[in-house]
Amino acid sequence: SQAQLLHSQKMEAVGRLAGGVAHDFNNILGVILGYASRADAALDPDAADASLAGIRSAAQRGAVVTRRLLSLSRDEAREVAVFDAAAAVRDIAPMLRQLFGQQVQMAAHVAAEPLPVRLDRAEFELALLNIAANARDAMPDGGTVRINVERQHGSVAITVTDSGVGMPPDVIERMFDPFFTTKARGHGTGIGLAVVHRLATEAGGAVRVDSEPGRGTALRLLLPLVDAPPAVTTRPATLRVLLVE
Ligand code: ADP
Repeated sequence: SQAQLLHSQKMEAVGRLAGGVAHDFNNILGVILGYASRADAALDPDAADASLAGIRSAAQRGAVVTRRLLSLSRDEAREVAVFDAAAAVRDIAPMLRQLFGQQVQMAAHVAAEPLPVRLDRAEFELALLNIAANARDAMPDGGTVRINVERQHGSVAITVTDSGVGMPPDVIERMFDPFFTTKARGHGTGIGLAVVHRLATEAGGAVRVDSEPGRGTALRLLLPLVDAPPAVTTRPATLRVLLVE
């Protein structure tokens, strides 16, 4: 019946939302646990303070996710604004480093010029965490990740290149499909790249992939450069509100 159909559509939407939230939380909790063990191991107070600052910053991103969940729709709470993608990647780099852990070497090369883009900054950051988590999972025995942020014609190109397991053509073909995962139960939801892809296309950009089994993967997020100078140079409002204690 019509009512049953509506119900199953609603359940599907709820399931998708829950899966996305679980995915974001897993990434964030991984970062927090990494910082916590570093704080445990820290010999001097300054090093411990830096780890605590990392925990605070990761927790703030988690709070953005719950805020969205409370509003019951990511779309409703979306805050599209102009920000500098180069600065945003520079800001989140320590968190990415933490996500990779000790086994993975990370090299970031970020253009010095401002690269203004227009989308929700919190979603952009969560997308980077997703891409980075995939790179980490592709290198169970460690490896190297390169992060490049540069202008490419009328776009900003953010490229994450790993030296991991790579993907055969049939996986590349399905990697953006919602719920497609090759990971073991409990380790993958298949939501990360579907969300990244949606975010990029809705911002007028694209996601490109170059991958080879046994050699690694390069994932490139292309976002249109906007002409306007960044209107917001500080944290977006969602985070600013959360910073007030
Ligand atoms: P999940 O990470 O939960 O599996 P994603 O949508 O993020 O979901 O990724 C879908 C699939 O794409 C992964 O299960 C994996 O097979 C493949 N994939 C994504 N990124 C990489 C990568 N950097 N290297 C190898 N495979 C990848």
